[in-house]
Amino acid sequence: MNHSFSTCPLPLPVTPQDTWIPLAALERMERTRYDVLIIGTGAGGGAALWRLCNQWRGTGRKIGIIDAGGLLIPSHVWNVPTLNRGRWFDYMYNPRILRTLGLTLPEFPGARQLFALGGKTLTWGAVSPRMPVSELLQWSIPLREMDFYYSLAEKVMKVTQTYTSGSAITQILLKRLWQNGFVDAREIPMAVDMTATQYGEVHSNAFFSSISFFAEALNLMSFDLAVEARAVQIHVEKGNVSGITAMSKEGKAYALEAENIVLAGSTFETPRLLLHSGIPGPAIGHYLTNHTSLMTVIPLSVKGFPEVLGTLGILYPALEGRPFQLQIQGPGTFAWYPQYEEKPVREDWEVRLLSFGRVESRFENRVMLDENRKDFYGVPEIQVQFSYSDKDREVIALMADSIRKATNAIRGETDEGSLPSLCLALSGSDNHESGTCRIGNDPLTSAVNPFGQLHGIRGLYVSDNSVLPTSGAANPTLTTVALAIRTADYLLEMMKG
Ligand SMILES: Cc1cc2nc3c(=O)[nH]c(=O)nc-3n(C[C@H](O)[C@H](O)[C@H](O)COP(=O)(O)OP(=O)(O)OC[C@H]3O[C@@H](n4cnc5c(N)ncnc54)[C@H](O)[C@@H]3O)c2cc1C
Repeated sequence: MNHSFSTCPLPLPVTPQDTWIPLAALERMERTRYDVLIIGTGAGGGAALWRLCNQWRGTGRKIGIIDAGGLLIPSHVWNVPTLNRGRWFDYMYNPRILRTLGLTLPEFPGARQLFALGGKTLTWGAVSPRMPVSELLQWSIPLREMDFYYSLAEKVMKVTQTYTSGSAITQILLKRLWQNGFVDAREIPMAVDMTATQYGEVHSNAFFSSISFFAEALNLMSFDLAVEARAVQIHVEKGNVSGITAMSKEGKAYALEAENIVLAGSTFETPRLLLHSGIPGPAIGHYLTNHTSLMTVIPLSVKGFPEVLGTLGILYPALEGRPFQLQIQGPGTFAWYPQYEEKPVREDWEVRLLSFGRVESRFENRVMLDENRKDFYGVPEIQVQFSYSDKDREVIALMADSIRKATNAIRGETDEGSLPSLCLALSGSDNHESGTCRIGNDPLTSAVNPFGQLHGIRGLYVSDNSVLPTSGAANPTLTTVALAIRTADYLLEMMKG
C-alpha cells in the first residue's frame, strides 16, 4: 500500500519568550495605570501578588510588580540539582549575591540582603512555625483572624511536619528529648511540597520560594512584572498615594501610576524608601528587631541506629514563658538540606543545635538614612543603630542552658557530660530582621495600621517582614506571608468602599 504524508509543521511559538517568566518593560508600565503596584518580590510581595490575582481573576484589574534585582534562579536553590551539597552555599552565600552589609553597619554587622526575583526566599531554610499565641495576644489582630490567615499561608506554602517524620535519627533523638523533659519537641515544620509525583502530576519543585507564588499567580491572571527596576520615590498627593518613580539599571527614571502601592522591599529597604520619600511617621524605621542566635555543633555516635538515618529536623518551639526556640539539625553540618546522593555509612556524625531568642522591640533600635552615602540611583544608603538589652541577654542565658540540657538528652547522657562550646551569631546574621514598619493602632509607636496600611495615607501598604510588631522567637516568614494575604484582602475591601 502506498502512503503519502504531508510534512508536519515545525512548532514555533507565536510570541517567543526570552526569559523563564514573562517580563514587562518599564516603558510599557509607564503607560499603564495600575490598580495595585507591588514593590519587591520576596515573601511579602509574592504573597500579596498571589492573593490579589486569586481574588481578581477575570475582573480585568491591572496589577504591576517590580523588583530591584534580576532573574537569579527560577526556584529555591535546593531545587536546583547542580547545587548539591555545599555548592548551593558557595553560590548563594557569595557576598556578591547574598550581600553582606557588615563593614557599613557596625552595629548590625551580620546583616545581608538579596536583590533578585524571589528575594531571600530563594535560599531561606523553609522553617515555618507559627508565632506563639502569647506573642500574638500582644498584637492588635484578633487571634481567630491570625488562625485563618496562618492556615491559608500554610496551605499555599505547603507547610508540613512530614519532611523529617519517620526518619530514624529524628525519631530516636525525639524520644530521647521527650524522656528528658523536652516534651514539646516535635518534627520541624517546613515549607516543602511532600506530595508524591504520580499520575503525571509532577512535584519536583519541592522547597517553597516566592517563585511558587508567581507560578500560581500566572495560572490565575496576567500581571506586569519588571526586574532590575528599583523604586526610588513614592508619590503622595493630599493624603492619597498616586505612584512611584522607578529606575532602570541604566539609571533611567520612569513614573509609574497606581491607585494602591504595596511595599515589600524588606525590613531595610521599605523604611529606606518611605524615609527618602518624606512619608511622615515617627515609628518608620524604628523598633528594629531580630533574633539572638546561639549555636553549637556536637559529635553524635549513631552506633546501633538503622543504616539509613534519614534527615534530622526537630523543633522545640517558643511558648509562653519560653522566649526562645531550639532547632536540632543534621546529620552533618549542612543540616536537613537535600541530599541528591547516598550519604556514606558512618558511626559518628555531627548534629547542630541552633537556638533563636526573642529580642525586645525598642524605639532606639532603628534603620535610618545615611545622607553621606548615596547609591547609584541617588538614594541615601541605610545606617543601623542597634544593641541588645539586658532582657535580651537574659534570654541568651536561657538559650545556653537549654542547648546544654538538650545536648545531654540527645547523647543519652543523664549526668552533665562534656558541655559544648557555644557561639553567638553576629547581630543581623539570623536573617530574621523585622519591625521597622510595625503594625499597630497608635501612629506614635507603629508605622502601619493593623491591616498594613500606612497611618494617614490612603492606598499605601506594607507587606514584608518590617510589619511584624514583635519578634517572638519564631522564624518570621510564615507570619509575614499570613499578614500579607490579610493586607491584600483589606486592600480589596477598601477598593469596594
Ligand atoms: C539563608 C537564609 C535562611 C533563612 N531561613 C529562614 C527560615 O528557615 N525560616 C524563615 O521564616 N525565614 C528564613 N529566612 C528569612 C526569610 O528569607 C525572610 O524572612 C523573607 O524572605 C523576608 O521577606 P521580605 O518580603 O520581607 O523580603 P525579601 O524576601 O528580602 O524580599 C525583598 C525584595 O524586595 C526587593 N527590593 C528591595 N528594595 C527594592 C526597591 N527599592 N525597589 C524594588 N524592589 C526592591 C529585593 O530585590 C527583594 O527581592 C532566611 C533567610 C536567609 C537569607
